[in-house]
Amino acid sequence: MSITYFISDLHLSADRKDISACLFRFLQTEALDADALYILGDLFEVWIGDDDITPFSESITNALKTLSVTVPIYFIHGNRDFAIRQAFAARAGMTILPEQHVIDLYGRKVLLMHGDELCTRDIEYQKFRKKSRSWWWPRLMLLLPLKTRQKIANNGRQTSKNNQKQLTAEIMDVTQSEVELAMQRHGVDLLIHGHTHRPKVHTFNLDNKLMKRIVLGDWYDQGSILIADKQHLSLANRVF
Ligand code: MN
Repeated sequence: MSITYFISDLHLSADRKDISACLFRFLQTEALDADALYILGDLFEVWIGDDDITPFSESITNALKTLSVTVPIYFIHGNRDFAIRQAFAARAGMTILPEQHVIDLYGRKVLLMHGDELCTRDIEYQKFRKKSRSWWWPRLMLLLPLKTRQKIANNGRQTSKNNQKQLTAEIMDVTQSEVELAMQRHGVDLLIHGHTHRPKVHTFNLDNKLMKRIVLGDWYDQGSILIADKQHLSLANRVF
């Protein structure tokens, strides 16, 4: 049977081996039969550069690479791993897609994105987003020695040892008018995104058309996947 998987917001890190283990199980069993795997951002909790090669990052790279031999893997940047570049993507066998991308999913046009750009009520965050996605800021960051970037990342981790509830509360939800604009701009009636950690299938009417917005779940307490075949789209969880 033809199946396509969508995941996002795994927030993988070396100190959450249970999340990586769940991903490995998924990649080595279910995902093997897929037509494609889409990772819609925040695969990693933090990404300080493709040159930060550690046993942890290598374990993820290798698991993705192995799957990519038979299953195409596509990646859209999240707000945590926007610094992923072609070097890592090539090692992991993933294709990086633009931040908003329309695919043909079994005959249906679907818009994919991480989703942070929809949260426009968070003015401070949008300012940061603009800077972090500029051509100059990531380059400036990557000019810092790897050791310095590691130190900055470690300090950040110490101060933000927040639990999932706090993290979700911190992320503002999407602005409905932004959702509608994006869907109209791309001429789709289905949008799939992550980022907000509020997994749900939303339906609404727009110009007498039924629109659907599917929000992927995060991987903090369990694996969270969207399974798409020719007939169905269903959100599912996988225990750690
Ligand atoms: Mn995010």
